[in-house]
Amino acid sequence: MSDVPAQRGRPHDVLGPVAPAPGEPAFDDDHPPRRDLVEDCVHCGFCLPSCPTYVLWGEEMDSPRGRIHLMKQGLDGEPLTPSMVAHVDRCLGCMACVTACPSGVRYDRLIEDTRQQVERRHRRPRRERALRAAVFALFPYPRRLRLLRGPLRAYQASGLRRLVRRSRLLPRLAPPLAALDSLAPRIGPAGEVPSRVPAQGRRRATVGMLTGCVQQSFFPEVNAATARVLAAEGCDVLILPERQGCCGALSVHNGRRAEAQRFARALVDAFDSAGIDYFVVNAAGCGSALKEYGELLADDPAYAKRAAAFAGTVRDLSELLAELGPVAPRHPLPLTVAYHDACHLAHAQGVRTQPRELLRAVPGLELREIADPEICCGSAGVWNVLNPEPAERLGDRKARDVLATGADLLVTANPGCLMQIAAGVRRLGGSLAVAHTVQILDASIRARPVGDLLR
Ligand code: SF4
Ligand code: SF4
Repeated sequence: MSDVPAQRGRPHDVLGPVAPAPGEPAFDDDHPPRRDLVEDCVHCGFCLPSCPTYVLWGEEMDSPRGRIHLMKQGLDGEPLTPSMVAHVDRCLGCMACVTACPSGVRYDRLIEDTRQQVERRHRRPRRERALRAAVFALFPYPRRLRLLRGPLRAYQASGLRRLVRRSRLLPRLAPPLAALDSLAPRIGPAGEVPSRVPAQGRRRATVGMLTGCVQQSFFPEVNAATARVLAAEGCDVLILPERQGCCGALSVHNGRRAEAQRFARALVDAFDSAGIDYFVVNAAGCGSALKEYGELLADDPAYAKRAAAFAGTVRDLSELLAELGPVAPRHPLPLTVAYHDACHLAHAQGVRTQPRELLRAVPGLELREIADPEICCGSAGVWNVLNPEPAERLGDRKARDVLATGADLLVTANPGCLMQIAAGVRRLGGSLAVAHTVQILDASIRARPVGDLLR
């Protein structure tokens, strides 16, 4: 388990906070959801059709408007009931409602503050606490994830996986494990990243690069492609893998603020005096959290300024490549590609045009749009592990829309989305290659055959 100190206001045991006193108000004074932001909501309902949980269940309390109403009740002194917590937990944090809202309601701030109150002040049932404890003892720790690679590879290669799936027991006995089994990508060879990759030709920038937890453990080829593309575009790439841990995205998006702050401080320490112009991220969820380090560490006098300055250097890879403009020649890739907007790239960071422009600039590549792009695929960090059944429904819906494009390849910029949509396609009996945006650019710059991407 992490060495994060228990947060103030309530004693914790190993699996989380102890039960609150009955009738105690939902929120304490440690960053409750802000009343002025709650009151910005004019209840118009424009956000409802974009909200995946409202689309699934049609329940007002599982819509952005309904959740904001619950926050208001909490601010007015209502206690945190299991039902209130369930509606908060069911939110994917996809931020489609932020994009859809004509009144500019900061639902992102509201849900983050609400979640950290829930994590500190609500005692979940034992099974749920144990599952969350296991998930957060594993996913934000790249070294622990890497230890899983060997056993997972053996499991996938031995035929045991086929046997387990044929028995259909796992979904009944342990749905989160079944979800992990269906999501896990085929484990390829482990990849190490060097500490530094020099720019090719004239140096245009010095950039730091996040290696990530799931990205480096299960998609090392995406990190390798990122470093190659940045170097080909004239960037000195500083990776410093020995100094990097988790960026804290998973923790902050799930209300574990103290844990996220600890990860954030370590990453700021690793890079803020390294002389970089930009810090580049190739995973949408991580990028959105990194851009908010200023807010996350605002109360820490030793880090507030440094964190805000560091956050100002953070760019999604596609943002930086678009900002710099291409210098490396592109070679043709005769491919039809469906591009999926990862929620934390499109809704949380507003990055939609840059990846599309980069893909369209590849000669021979045809870009196709997916229906209902604003609706989340159901991945949402670890939401699909904590909520396997609705996540599967959202994944299948997205997979159907992707297959309907008739594209050869699905491209997106988040490892979670890649795994989630690929699992949906497999469940539907389809087959479709998947790739990160940077792998397309890398293949084009290096004149690789299309077959490399379609394997
Ligand atoms: S973040 Fe996503 S799931 Fe949550 S309320 Fe907004 S649209 Fe719905
Ligand atoms: S969050 Fe925005 S779009 Fe949704 S009901 Fe409130 S004001 Fe309307």
